[in-house]
This record gives sequence, structure tokens and C-alpha cells, in this order.
Amino acid sequence: MGGQLQGKGVDVENYPGLANVTGPEVVAAMREQAASFGAVFECEEVIKIDSTQRPFKVYTNSSVIETHAIIVATGAESNWMNIPGEYEMRGGGVSSCAICDGAAFYQKDVVVIGGGDSAMEEALVLARTSKSVTVIHRRDKFRASNVLALRVMEHPHIKIKWNTVVKKIIGEKVVAEQAEEGDEDDASLDLDQEKKFVTGVVLTNSETGEESTLATSAVFVAIGHTPTTSFMVDVVEFDQEHTGYIKTVETSTKTSLAGIFAAGDVSDAIYRQAVTSAGSGAAAALDAERWLSEEGLGNEQAEFEAELLAELMADGSMDEKAGGGYNAYDDAGGRMTGVKESTRVEF
Ligand code: NAP
Repeated sequence: MGGQLQGKGVDVENYPGLANVTGPEVVAAMREQAASFGAVFECEEVIKIDSTQRPFKVYTNSSVIETHAIIVATGAESNWMNIPGEYEMRGGGVSSCAICDGAAFYQKDVVVIGGGDSAMEEALVLARTSKSVTVIHRRDKFRASNVLALRVMEHPHIKIKWNTVVKKIIGEKVVAEQAEEGDEDDASLDLDQEKKFVTGVVLTNSETGEESTLATSAVFVAIGHTPTTSFMVDVVEFDQEHTGYIKTVETSTKTSLAGIFAAGDVSDAIYRQAVTSAGSGAAAALDAERWLSEEGLGNEQAEFEAELLAELMADGSMDEKAGGGYNAYDDAGGRMTGVKESTRVEF
């Protein structure tokens, strides 16, 4: 849980009110805050959404969840260069997450590809543990925000190669020693014991056309992200100008299908910041609540009364008889219906 913010090992710089906290700390605090208001969490992967009937059916890898409203906030995934050696060397020094894999290259020379905020962050994280970091950017100017770009450009362990394109990632594959003597009959040892190591990158200078090779132990690809929206194809309309982004109606979070809302990076090709995503999440919650209310699917008055009643009962100012068998939660717009058994226990 936590998406791009979870992988952010350096401080979150641009979130009002926050200072000296890392991405995972912000995610943990957000989760705790949501849980304190009754949000429940299911760790499942959404495979498809059946929007042909109401309530909608959300098919996950392990269950089907019925719901009147959906807020899609599945964020974005890393892009890859699609150059020779990149796929082949994944797991052997090619990565898109410095915070996850950087420590494996302690005191080694590493490379970061990209010129945006992600590339800057990857370089800064790696500079803590690597012998040297080289940022390779295809232009002569970073796209990243000034504060991060300056930190990278002034860092003593970070070098920058401008106007340079990575053409190929080179490496070695070593077949490790197979079964020890006496293990010949053990079929489970007859596995592919191949180990991979990145050894360098082949570069081309985009101005001079000159080709060169740079030795490196790892390549961190940080060239942007693509929204995780494939499961929404044929469910809602997409933005014609920005591939993969869900189209929202004017300034709202409403999608082309009533009852489905989009928040954060799935529908924002421009700002894509933690703070703008959080704001868009809040807007989606308001849009969804209003829509449920307009459709008569939520009952705000009953929910308010239920909460009041629950508070009074918790205060001890009403005994059980005063409830007279009236179950306010039953009257609260079916707040608990549709909740799975596992969740009910947690709730
Ligand atoms: P981005 O801003 O889209 O930057 C992608 C970078 O990769 C660009 O410099 C681009 O070069 C380069 N690139 C793209 N395709 C390439 C290719 N095929 N070969 C070589 N280089 C390629 O993506 P991002 O850095 O992931 O950031 C995404 C959004 O999240 C941004 O809005 C960013 O501000 C935000 N973000 C913010 C923070 C923060 O505030 N701390 C941290 C991370 C991300 P060009 O410049 O030439 O296009």
C-alpha cells in the first residue's frame, strides 16, 4: 500500500505542514487516519469491473465486491526504456526502485536514467550508499523541480551526463555451480542456477553521435510512469490527449460513468504530486458522497442519527433499553451490508 510515496526513501518536500518525514511515514500516518474513521482495507488485485448492473461488481483475485460507488485511485507504474539488455538484466542490476534495490550495490558505481523528479530522488537515495552515481539524461536540462535538481547537481558523489542516450545495457550471465556431489538424484536441484550481473551501458551522445561505454554495476531507470488503468478500459472513457489517463468531467472527479470517480495520478497528467493527489482524493470522496445522496443510495440523516446514538450509548447516557431494539446501524443506509466477513471482524 502507498504506491509511489511508499517507495520514497527521502523526505517528502512539498506537502504542506510536513517536514522531515519520508514517504512510508506519510503513508502509515494516512492509513492510520483513514482507519480511525472506519475505512477498511482489503489487499486484493482488481481484475475487472462489471458496470453493466447496479450495484457495480468489482472482481478481485479472490472475491467479488458489490458497491454503488467506486473511486479509482490506482496511481501509476514505472516506465521502461525497452532497450537491449534491460529486460534480460532485470534482477541482476536493472531496477526502477533505488529504495528497494539500491543497498545491493553498496560502494559500487551505479547509473540513473532520467531527468525528472523521480530520477533526482533515485540519485539522491543511491548517493548515500553507492561509490558513485551517474545520472544520464537525454537533454541538457533537467525536467525536475529546482530544489531536487540543484541538490543532485551539487552533490559530490553524483556525476551528470547531459545529452546522452543509453542504447544498451550490457552484463554477464554466470551459471552457478550445480548440485554438490551426492545430490545428483535430487530433481529439485536441477533448476536454472543462472546469475546475472550488469557490467556497463553503451551510450550515444545525441549532439555528436559519439558512442562510448560506461562501466556500472546497476542501472536505475527513472523515466516516468504510466497510469495503472488497464482494468478500466471499456468501463469509462479515457483522455484522448494523454494516453492511459482516465477522462474526468470538467474540474470534478466524475468519470464518463455515473458512480465511478477517479482520483490522483490515474486522471492527472499534469500535477502528479502527493499533495494534489490527496486533494483530488478528497474531492472524489465529496463527489461520490454527493452522488450517492442524489441517487438516494446513502442516507446522511440516518447515518448522522446512528453516529449520535452510538456516541450517546458509548457515553453511558443511554441504557440498552432506551435503544428499545432499534438498530440505528441497520437504518444507516446499510452501512455494514456488503462488507466481507474478514472485514467485518476487523471493523
Ligand atoms: P517525468 O517528470 O515525466 O520525467 C521523466 C524523465 O525521464 C524526463 O526527464 C524525460 O526526459 C525522461 N525520459 C522519458 N522517457 C525517456 C526515454 N525513453 N529515454 C530517456 N529518458 C526518458 O517523470 P517522473 O520523474 O517520474 O515524475 C512524474 C511526476 O511525479 C512529476 O510531476 C514529478 O514532479 C512528480 N514527482 C514528484 C516528486 C517530488 O515532488 N518529490 C518525486 C517524484 C515524482 P525529458 O525531460 O527529455 O522529457
